[in-house]
Amino acid sequence: MTEQDVTSPTHHEHVDLLVIGWGKGGKTLAGTMARAGRRVAVVEQSEAMIGGSCINIACIPTKILVHDAENRRESDDVDAYFARAVTRRDTLTGAMRRKNFSMLDSLDSVLLVSGRAEFTGEREVLVTGGDDTLRITADTVVVNTGSVATVPNIDGAALGGRIHDSKTLQHVTPFPRRLVVVGGGYIGLEFGSMFAHFGARVTVLDRGPRPLRQEDDDVAEVVASALADDGVTIVSGAAVTAVADGADHATVTYVADGESTDVEADAVLLAVGRTPATKDLGLDRAGIASDDRGFITVDEQLRTSAEGVYAFGDVNGGPMFTYISLDDNRILADQLLGEGRRSTADRGSVPYTMFLTPPVSRVGLTEKEAREQGYDVRVGAKLMADIAAAPRAKIEGDPRGIVKFVVDGATDLVLGAALVHVHSQEVINTVALAMRHGVTATELRDTIYTHPSATEALNEVLGTLR
Ligand SMILES: Cc1cc2nc3c(=O)[nH]c(=O)nc-3n(C[C@H](O)[C@H](O)[C@H](O)COP(=O)(O)OP(=O)(O)OC[C@H]3O[C@@H](n4cnc5c(N)ncnc54)[C@H](O)[C@@H]3O)c2cc1C
Repeated sequence: MTEQDVTSPTHHEHVDLLVIGWGKGGKTLAGTMARAGRRVAVVEQSEAMIGGSCINIACIPTKILVHDAENRRESDDVDAYFARAVTRRDTLTGAMRRKNFSMLDSLDSVLLVSGRAEFTGEREVLVTGGDDTLRITADTVVVNTGSVATVPNIDGAALGGRIHDSKTLQHVTPFPRRLVVVGGGYIGLEFGSMFAHFGARVTVLDRGPRPLRQEDDDVAEVVASALADDGVTIVSGAAVTAVADGADHATVTYVADGESTDVEADAVLLAVGRTPATKDLGLDRAGIASDDRGFITVDEQLRTSAEGVYAFGDVNGGPMFTYISLDDNRILADQLLGEGRRSTADRGSVPYTMFLTPPVSRVGLTEKEAREQGYDVRVGAKLMADIAAAPRAKIEGDPRGIVKFVVDGATDLVLGAALVHVHSQEVINTVALAMRHGVTATELRDTIYTHPSATEALNEVLGTLR
């Protein structure tokens, strides 16, 4: 698989649309614009990243591994089973990479450029690939360079050896019997849960006062207890002070309740957040403003401070999800080819899922947030195991979880929901759609759902609002 290599130093291309980075929003817009007859260039710095993070190192590969981890039986050999899962991960992501390449390569007016782009002026970049360079100018530029794992400013915390980020841990070898995760956010917990299912003993060191601090207490307790059942120990209020790799194992030192503790690990995952990939982009040379963390500043139509330059996806500091990058593309496509009405302000009720076992899905406000905002709050909540008329979770052998709805008593509209159960990543989309379109809690309660499904829990739980 080769992209068009960058050519001689003096070579110059002018295009209607230049996309820097093969992210979700940028690649989608590139295809749309090319099909509409525009000349488009897409620049990607790494052949291994064709198609972007989602298919190569993030959503898809991690969910393949989560799926396989959940299906491991006690009798399976841990090392061989993990190695097979990694092979399946690589095979599937390789196929998706090839498909992503051909989807754009097959369009005549798309120029695929292999190399690293940096701005040299207004809507002008220099792409460097090996010894070659190419200058590209464009009427419209989309910066879609994504983000990278943040390496925390902790003594000894440098990637390499037994110290990993979410990308390198997916190919860790040998399989770590003891994994220490620094950071209890969604990436840390997803990997913690996944590695526990593969057979590791997992310790998550989290600064927060309790796991899942963004959720209500009752929801967080259910999730923490499922993680504990599965072999994940979460240490809350833990400030990691040092990470050291050694001959036989790594050691992570943390302070909790004023006491310093060392914990040994065969692998350490640093999962303390993401940093925008803007460091060497030369934003200043193009007049593109960014905030103090490097995120590109955009308005509601994703315009940067530079005329004709837009930023999509993780790099613009919005919610870091593939479907947000995809929606960013819709906003600019509407400006370039449509009526220019779409904006980020239209995005009410954006759901998300943490792919734990069972998955944790949320949309809208928690009960605590709704009370703080002064709503006349009504709550319906039931443990999954106690819901009589939704046997899907029991059928699939994991009846753990909770369904919780927060409703505005004044309007009967759903303010938010937390769904922790098998298939919650699907059900949450129905709830989000209902919220977006003003479907009331009573209508959701009285709707006909398929049986046996996880969605039918809504019939019963929304009947318990008080
Ligand atoms: C472990 C993990 C799991 C995740 N799971 C999920 C999930 O389940 N669901 C979900 O919705 N989101 C998930 N995310 C988040 C999701 O992956 C990101 O929000 C999404 O991929 C962001 O895409 P993007 O469009 O910003 O750009 P990306 O897809 O990150 O693409 C940016 C591209 O730009 C390239 N690039 C960078 N700089 C340059 C340059 N100077 N020149 C040329 N090319 C450059 C990079 O190589 C990269 O290919 C996960 C993230 C991680 C880390």
